[in-house]
Amino acid sequence: MIPRLALFARAILTRHRAQPLENAFVLIQGHRILQVGERKDLQFLPSVRVLDLGDTILLPGLINAHCHLDFTSLRGKVPLRDGFRDWLTRVARKTRATTPEDFKRSISEGIRQSLDHGTTTLYDIATSYESYALLKKSGLRSAVFFEALDFGQPLPLAVWKRILDRVQRATAFPPHPTTLRWGFSPHTPYTVSRELFHLVGRQLAHHRKMPTAIHVGESRAEWELFQKGRGALAKRRSELNPDWAKPHAKTPVQFLSKLGWLPKLDLAVHCNTVDGKDLELLEKHRIGVVHCPGSHAFFGHPKFRYAEFKEWGIPVALGTDSLASNRSLSMFREMRLFAQANPAVKPSEVLSLTTDRAAEALGEGKSLGQVRPGYLADLIGVPAPSLLPKDPEELADWVIHHKGPVSFSMVNGERLLRVAG
Ligand SMILES: [Zn+2]
Repeated sequence: MIPRLALFARAILTRHRAQPLENAFVLIQGHRILQVGERKDLQFLPSVRVLDLGDTILLPGLINAHCHLDFTSLRGKVPLRDGFRDWLTRVARKTRATTPEDFKRSISEGIRQSLDHGTTTLYDIATSYESYALLKKSGLRSAVFFEALDFGQPLPLAVWKRILDRVQRATAFPPHPTTLRWGFSPHTPYTVSRELFHLVGRQLAHHRKMPTAIHVGESRAEWELFQKGRGALAKRRSELNPDWAKPHAKTPVQFLSKLGWLPKLDLAVHCNTVDGKDLELLEKHRIGVVHCPGSHAFFGHPKFRYAEFKEWGIPVALGTDSLASNRSLSMFREMRLFAQANPAVKPSEVLSLTTDRAAEALGEGKSLGQVRPGYLADLIGVPAPSLLPKDPEELADWVIHHKGPVSFSMVNGERLLRVAG
């Protein structure tokens, strides 16, 4: 018989009911939620273990849809001096000077911070390829996107062979838990050659369920490159390749469309610069968009057009990006930053961007991001206020403003963390 566990909490934010459940329980069997309801309605069975979380608000574990664990140790070390491209070059320089051991330390620290702050699903872009093994050990639900780029390198096929070799080494050792997936992330539309895009795409044709993510439409410099063939990125490209020509597309999203990449793409990260046609394409191909409020503020990117994505029905998830351009891996902080920049959006909707709506953006809307029978048992707890507010928006606001570690966390029915106090 699969073990059952009943969690009691002062309130549960299920994310599919408008009102929170007070004095509530969630019954878990194995990896999944079996039942959710009011405490008085739970029928006791001798085989059910009980854990009373006391004055806790229980909610779905938070989703960080975009992160670079490799660069956790770069917090505060790469200030913005001379624009986005200059910053990118300095991060690349630091990456080349980092040893595998340093990367492992950085990743482990990032995992620890993520767990503390209530992240239960983490989508990581892997530059060093070291995060796969460490995420596997962590128990976090995660997807590792092995990064592919060949900017300034002459032989795409040789680059691709090296990538495949490194992926094989990184993923060679079983077991392969169901909580961990891996896929590819061609870095950006301007740092990956057409040939390399084609080679990654061909690989995906053999593995249809492999997830993909691309940084796209992030900066003004990228926009200028596609719109006019000018600016800092265009200059760097012509330095590396005198035969360089302006891309044959008006926008980065339309460039990916011409390459035939949109049907293969799951997550478009950033999308700060998009036009109406781009929105149409993203919606048509059911691509989720990831917005990173902390990193967005660090660079001062053009305003993220949240209302338009919403109008088009394109699901948006939040992410932290790396600590080279952000201060914290807390998704609570990302929600607060989003709320500050978008004061018209209600707290419960802000919370959806790290829970149910985020799960939709990841294509996991039917299994993650809600406390609901049949859903995976990924849950966190934060301390409840002494008096529960009657207005659910006030309670959502309380949750968003939680600071410090969470008081409970669980992934796939397994408890990961219980911090005292
Ligand atoms: Zn990123």
